[in-house]
Amino acid sequence: MIPRDHTKLICDIGELSGLFSDTSSLDGFLQKIVEMISSHMHSEVCSIYIYYENTNELVLRATKGLKPEAIGKVTMKLGEGLTGIALKELRPVCEKNASKTPGYRYFPDIGEELYESFLAVPIVRGTNRIGAVVIQNSQKNYFNEEDTKVFRAITSQLANTIETAKLLISFNEKASPAASPTVAKELKFIKGRVGCEGFSFAEAIVHEQSVDLAPPEEQMTIAQARLTLEDFHRAVQETEKQLEALQEQIEEKLSDVASLIFTAQILMLKDQSFLDAIVKAIGEGLNPPDAVRKVASQYATMFDALPNQYLRDKKHDVLDIGSRLLENLIGVGDAHHDLKGKIVISRQLFPSDILKFSSLNVSGVILLSGGVASHLTILAVSLGLPVVFCEEPQLLKIPQGTKVILDADNGNIYVSPTQEVIESFKNKEKDRLLAIQVKHEMKDMTVTSDGERVRLMANINLLGDLSAAREYRAEGIGLYRTEFPFIVRSDFPSEEEQLSIYTKLVQGMPGQEITFRTLDIGGDKVLSYYDNGNEENPFLGMRSIRFSLRHKDVFAQQIRAILRAGVGANIRMMFPMISSLDEFIEAKDFVRQCADELSKEGVPHHANPPIGMMVELPSVIEIIDELAQEADFFSIGTNDFIQYMLAVDRTNEKVADFFLPHHPGVLRALYKVACAAKRHGKDVSVCGLMSHQEKFVPYLLGIGIRKLSVDSRYLYKIQRAVECVSLKEAEAETKKILSTKLVRDIERLLK
Ligand code: PEP
Ligand code: MG
Repeated sequence: MIPRDHTKLICDIGELSGLFSDTSSLDGFLQKIVEMISSHMHSEVCSIYIYYENTNELVLRATKGLKPEAIGKVTMKLGEGLTGIALKELRPVCEKNASKTPGYRYFPDIGEELYESFLAVPIVRGTNRIGAVVIQNSQKNYFNEEDTKVFRAITSQLANTIETAKLLISFNEKASPAASPTVAKELKFIKGRVGCEGFSFAEAIVHEQSVDLAPPEEQMTIAQARLTLEDFHRAVQETEKQLEALQEQIEEKLSDVASLIFTAQILMLKDQSFLDAIVKAIGEGLNPPDAVRKVASQYATMFDALPNQYLRDKKHDVLDIGSRLLENLIGVGDAHHDLKGKIVISRQLFPSDILKFSSLNVSGVILLSGGVASHLTILAVSLGLPVVFCEEPQLLKIPQGTKVILDADNGNIYVSPTQEVIESFKNKEKDRLLAIQVKHEMKDMTVTSDGERVRLMANINLLGDLSAAREYRAEGIGLYRTEFPFIVRSDFPSEEEQLSIYTKLVQGMPGQEITFRTLDIGGDKVLSYYDNGNEENPFLGMRSIRFSLRHKDVFAQQIRAILRAGVGANIRMMFPMISSLDEFIEAKDFVRQCADELSKEGVPHHANPPIGMMVELPSVIEIIDELAQEADFFSIGTNDFIQYMLAVDRTNEKVADFFLPHHPGVLRALYKVACAAKRHGKDVSVCGLMSHQEKFVPYLLGIGIRKLSVDSRYLYKIQRAVECVSLKEAEAETKKILSTKLVRDIERLLK
């Protein structure tokens, strides 16, 4: 055996990093690594595989010894073949007789069969799987334990460099999609997660704007024609008219928020410094389209540099205005706002984007970030906009106009579907339309099979949800999320503005019980006009009742508006995210104080509505009896309760599998809440997403819950689910569940 100089190899690793910065070709860089290792080790083969998380695949990126044609073509799943096993199990695999080893994977035509000695060492950084280095030799028993140890040291030194190389490769792939094996793979079917149920078959449009307004080719030639300052002013006027018309058009659908959707754009269009900058550029000799492009891009770049993500996203408004102006100047349609009927694919969105999309009649949304319990989803449900979450970044690269089937009922995405797939969905669409008719079958009252009455209430986010609540015969509003009008505005709504929205709500459900939840902002509900100081953990930050108690001026205006809107009505008020008895008492006393002030001022109001709290934090379970004495009612917000109980960010798609409503800790805690409410004769309901999942209905009834509040579109299905429950059986089943220890066993019982 030829002696191997390990010390020299380790020393040369530093050189390799130096090499990286000189390497013009990234693949060339990886190639240099394998050649260097192979020469040091006197091994006949050395290869580098890079791991791609999105496809869960290792791809051969460089080799010395195997056929060069294999580069980019040889792929294996994590855990597949000896290399896949090494990376999956994060340990070196050293075999003297590779082809006889269980798990060996043979690739024909790459010339691997000659090499029986095999050593694969994973490249890992922290917990990140980066790839694997494999060395092979025809001489049996060529690699020894010392080689393995040394190679471990080498790969850990190399990890950083290769991780950077991998990143750069991925950037490269973005720049030239055809060059990459992972990108070349055709996207056909992608499994995502349901955000908001629904269905759409339409053209897709990727909603990712760069911060410049590079003109599409066809616009270039039109823009050559000389335009004047008057043309620019005319374009401004036309754009303004179009935006106002758009707003009017959506007034009906979203009466409480409509006027705010395009506010940012209208403001920008009227902003004198923005207009002056364009006029100045035209005065300096730029053709008006170029002047618009230049100034809009400058503004977008400025927004892009802001520290707050929400403000950064305002660049879309500037770009949108820029492209509308360009369209009116040079008359070429622009994809930025031509979203009607399309399926929008986006990396990230804000609630205001969802409102805008709905107003522009977007037919569906595919989102690469966010979770099913996020407020964006909640808003999408209100608007009836199908949403699927899916982490596939290649979706952002599909050509604009690609036909896509979005089966948001099952979280499935079909890109460029075949005729066969299209046909199979025609029936589904018919079924879906039929399902919409079922609201006529809704009964006024909901009872279990053994005659126990259950009240089904509606969750309302926007006034637009009211008509559905009435059509589906909701018995009242179990949760009105008051924050949505706050989220879409450009400043805190005044007491009078809130009064007008709340009055419409109360008038929309005359005589029925309406539960107002006070402002629940923070977390994933950011106010563009309030700087929370970039919190590291916004869900653990200045959220909900904490914000209200810290900003009593804002809180007072809201409470006054609710009390005033509630004159003569059956309203209740509750606080979100209560963590202690002290906090509840402070908030409740503050309501009392506001009511007293209204009395002193002689303003008509509801003097004494029931005051309750949301059960959303694990801390309240231990003090639930004391809270039950103090509160008039409980409403269990399972979305947050599960999030905080299990430490699972409800908006993080990556940990969605840990969001377990059926965790025994969660289920037993719900039981304790229901029991405490019963002991103290207090009303208790469930208003989180768990209450619209049919499989939990028997359990919730079994622990004594008699009131569920769900989005109206689920009322029919929940009524049917309740009607199928025999309370006696449900109670027996609930006992079993409560004494079951394992999540998986509970899962089985619930099925
Ligand atoms: C909940 O947390 O379950 C809830 C209903 O409130 P929200 O989803 O608005 O946080
Ligand atoms: Mg909540």
